[in-house]
Amino acid sequence: MKVTAVGGYRAIGRNMTGVSVGNDTVALDNGLRLDMLQMYDSDVTDVKRLSREDLIRLDVIPEMDRLKDVRANVISHGHLDHVGALPFTRPKAPVVSTPYAIEIGRREYREGDFYSVDYDQHYGVSRRIDVEFIRVTHSIPDTALVLLKTDEGNVVYACDYKFDDSSTLGKTDYQKIRKAGKDGVRALIVESTRIKEAGKTPPESVVKSMLDDILNSIDDGLIIATTFASHIERIQMIMDAVEKTGRKPLILGHSMMNHIELAERFNYLDMPPSARVYGTPKAINHALSEIRKNREDYFILATGHQAEPESVLVRMIENKFRFRFEKRDSLVFCASTIPVPLNIANRSVLESKLQSKGVRIFRDVHVSGHASKEDHRRLLDMLKPEHIVPCHGSLDQRSAWAALASEEGYELNKNVHLINNGQSITL
Ligand SMILES: [Zn+2]
Repeated sequence: MKVTAVGGYRAIGRNMTGVSVGNDTVALDNGLRLDMLQMYDSDVTDVKRLSREDLIRLDVIPEMDRLKDVRANVISHGHLDHVGALPFTRPKAPVVSTPYAIEIGRREYREGDFYSVDYDQHYGVSRRIDVEFIRVTHSIPDTALVLLKTDEGNVVYACDYKFDDSSTLGKTDYQKIRKAGKDGVRALIVESTRIKEAGKTPPESVVKSMLDDILNSIDDGLIIATTFASHIERIQMIMDAVEKTGRKPLILGHSMMNHIELAERFNYLDMPPSARVYGTPKAINHALSEIRKNREDYFILATGHQAEPESVLVRMIENKFRFRFEKRDSLVFCASTIPVPLNIANRSVLESKLQSKGVRIFRDVHVSGHASKEDHRRLLDMLKPEHIVPCHGSLDQRSAWAALASEEGYELNKNVHLINNGQSITL
């Protein structure tokens, strides 16, 4: 069995790992590196102007040609750093994932050959490889651990996940994880995003009490919140909290509209009857012009949690709409700043503009969707893999994974492997 690091092994994003058994290869994930192009929640139209070679050179998409004999592209979940490169790598082999991620993939890459596989089903890649999905919690619906069953042993791909037993969007299938462990795991390929955080990642329910507390404390001005458009559980939580205040929710932004429409179709989201969603600049402008007097009757949820230049929030502060911020308005960031220099700079500019207008700012009303060190140790306990290949992180982050593994009796270069983009190991 050969494991090939294609993307996501130098920095977070543009995830792709190859697993080959004989002449059959599965490509795991097909992601974009988002921060390189400042497009966390925006469309991929800007990127489409660049050539595939440029996108590889700029570290935006994985160099998929490194993999030979790809029989299937298996996608773990619908975040763009896992599925967003499909329209650029344009794989000919079938794209296989859970139903919600398949719908997101299909929107990105219309010509693809998609197979939606439920948690009680499996997909035969070849005579030698079979794929199953194990339900797990994260920050987008329908996230899965990928279980590859091969005649040279089984592989579990855990990228991304957290263990949140309070999640309202489905429970982690611990029984199936333990069964995979009992059946034997040749290799665990596992994300490293938050491995350096001690302890356990707090559950999403923590955000609920933070939000209720903040919204209860504000009784004047307009309230504006921003979060990840794909974070459906969070959007539901925000809507539930707003409903209690009696304010009318206006949801603004193209990506918000797209994700909400999809989640409602899958019954993952139940919007309050008073909520209105606006996607186009014209519709947003019209909706915002409604808020002149009685600002305290409204609540806005808008794109722009990373202060992306094209987001609704940034265009609001730049007076691109018929709207002006006023003293005693409030802005709630239901996201932390993703720590890359461009985001930090954009966010700082946005906050100082807001502050100069007297807007109250509430930061970091957020918990991560990624497992921390003790969550990872728990996964190790359940799976007891023979080999560990940390992925989705810088060398520094992946080294922290190796340190955890060594606490559990693993040895670097013997059964823990730190490989870089373009390298392979044979197990
Ligand atoms: Zn993710």
